[in-house]
Amino acid sequence: MGILLEVKDHSELAAEQLKPIGEILDSRPLMGDALLALSRWAANYYQHPLGDVFSNVLPTLLRQGKALITEQRWQLTTEGKGLPEGALKSAKKQAELIKLLQQQKTVSATQLREKNIKRPVLNALIDKGLIEIVSENFAVLASSHYSPANQPLTLNEQQQNAVDSVNAQTGFGCFLLEGVTGSGKTEVYLQLIDQVLRQGLQALVLIPEIGLTPQTFSRFQQRFNCPIALLHSGLTDRERLLAWQQAATGEAGIIIGTRSAVFTPLARPGLIIIDEEHDSSFKQQDGFRYSARDIAIKRASDHSIPILLGSATPSLETLHNALQGRYHHLSMTQRATGASSPKFELLDIRNAALEEGFSPELIAAIKATIKAGNQALVFINRRGFSPVLMCQSCGFIAQCTHCDARMTVHYQQRLLRCHHCEFQQRLPDICPNCSERCLDFKGAGTERSEQALQRLFPNTGVIRIDRDTTSKKQAMETMIEEINRGEPCILVGTQMLAKGHHFADVTLVAILDADGGLFSADFRGPEKMGQLLVQVAGRAGRASKSGRVLIQTLQPEHPLINALVNNSYQHYARKILAERQQFAMPPYGYLALVRADANNLQKPEQFLQQIKQQLIAHQQVKMLGPLPAPMTRRAGRYRVQLLLQSQSRKPLHHCLQQLCTIAEQHPLASNLRWSIDVDPIDAF
Ligand code: ADP
Ligand code: ZN
Repeated sequence: MGILLEVKDHSELAAEQLKPIGEILDSRPLMGDALLALSRWAANYYQHPLGDVFSNVLPTLLRQGKALITEQRWQLTTEGKGLPEGALKSAKKQAELIKLLQQQKTVSATQLREKNIKRPVLNALIDKGLIEIVSENFAVLASSHYSPANQPLTLNEQQQNAVDSVNAQTGFGCFLLEGVTGSGKTEVYLQLIDQVLRQGLQALVLIPEIGLTPQTFSRFQQRFNCPIALLHSGLTDRERLLAWQQAATGEAGIIIGTRSAVFTPLARPGLIIIDEEHDSSFKQQDGFRYSARDIAIKRASDHSIPILLGSATPSLETLHNALQGRYHHLSMTQRATGASSPKFELLDIRNAALEEGFSPELIAAIKATIKAGNQALVFINRRGFSPVLMCQSCGFIAQCTHCDARMTVHYQQRLLRCHHCEFQQRLPDICPNCSERCLDFKGAGTERSEQALQRLFPNTGVIRIDRDTTSKKQAMETMIEEINRGEPCILVGTQMLAKGHHFADVTLVAILDADGGLFSADFRGPEKMGQLLVQVAGRAGRASKSGRVLIQTLQPEHPLINALVNNSYQHYARKILAERQQFAMPPYGYLALVRADANNLQKPEQFLQQIKQQLIAHQQVKMLGPLPAPMTRRAGRYRVQLLLQSQSRKPLHHCLQQLCTIAEQHPLASNLRWSIDVDPIDAF
């Protein structure tokens, strides 16, 4: 299978190097000019082969040469169109279907399933001669027949200002909507989309992870009576293709999706929204390493439409662009429900007698919260029971045999698991090194904290939310339903709890260990930590009740923690921006990372070293390395990296182009894996 890009009347290649085309599969191009141009741009910007970019852009079924899917659709007959108001009163479902058809002209089998309208309902209306199957091969549908299903909320002044500003934009413009948690960003999105739909245009909404925030989709569905195409990793190939087509034909007015949805074709683009723009899931971390946020901005510019980036904790790149005036900066500083923003308090645990990681003050605070009939949320960013299995007798520590990493104890499963590869082992009873019965668990993860909470609060429900407890389908939904029932309970979990949830009864948020991010080797450590803490804290006091955030720390005097606690994310972010400027790190400089890995350390080191030597040194591009990656051995591969840093994009880009050519021709290239990461998010 190949993709035909251009037809020429001659070629520089010899005839035997060319292949004849056997058959042309599509009568019309699968991709419009806009998407093709975007793909080419991305391939060039990220130094990635165009063919592989197409694999990210096109749905699997199309890549396999399957035809577009034609779904059965139904429409009103003349008689059906003339049906008087309230005619089918006694048959509720039939009336619902008629109403739907009056609004959007035709309806597909998928949509009927979504709306829970069954075959007998359809057949009854066909028998009555009110609806009929659409015979012609239906292409583009006018979505101008749309009406909002639910009444919008009355916007407050800050929300109205945000909506007005974006609506006033003609052509391309990038907006940062910096709104504190609970400020009502979603309502702003909904009202902007409403305008877009009224003009008969489409809105593309990118969100971090659909599985984690099932409420987001239902909020859109309740508001709008129009087909919404949903694109995420949980779809079957067929469902994905259908959604893709609905977007491409213009049938879907709204397209909601995760990272890869940035490449969805749009018949009539009107607006792009990126919710939680700081979220690292927008950056693909393997293969074609693109940033969906950055591509979306390019795309909005190509289409001459506005793009809105929303976050309570914008990334430093975006914030910098807004502060420089390149983006319009909209801010919402108040919570929409009128509740005050949560208060941060530091708990100095340097000399505290901790009970399984909980200080006496924290235990008392949780107790008081439960007693008042509210819910408490305990955040610990580590899953499993304990990160270290250690022998008290000989000092042995359980290590992964394939990675430079420790094994994590999963106590209920009686397993040791590596969180960096697939490797797992049975949890031993005796030390594998000295055979003594002296094995001990050091440190806690969510599983251990859950156990501790169950012991400390035997009469209160404890709900653990992490990757292990939410892996089953619907598990997350079930837990969220239980939380929303509002009974006093304690939630304990990882960063999954930080993602955009609206828990009305949580009034206390406890952060068990805030210090990790401050000392991480990654230059983005403090940024990520600040975002995470503010996002978790944002779960407290979202409805009418006010909230409290307790942060346990061994570093109560640390300037960064204090900047966060005493001021706000804005102050904190400006402080770390200043540090970045000092070291010419992004957004004040540009980075690219060349990675190589193999089954030994020498090969990738040699490879990168030789490439570096062959590169014609460019004054404006600094090269660091090659150096072993932070976790050098991972899943049995030894990883080495070469970092390129520059004050401007152009020289960096030239350098990378040159590097690519050298690397492709290098004799070692076929013996190892190598890749280029432009604007990496985990550089070191
Ligand atoms: P964010 O996404 O900024 O964290 P949400 O959009 O989830 O905030 O809104 C938080 C809560 O405020 C929701 O329950 C929402 O229904 C409510 N809300 C938003 N806008 C308004 C408004 N104008 N009037 C009253 N309530 C609002
Ligand atoms: Zn491992």
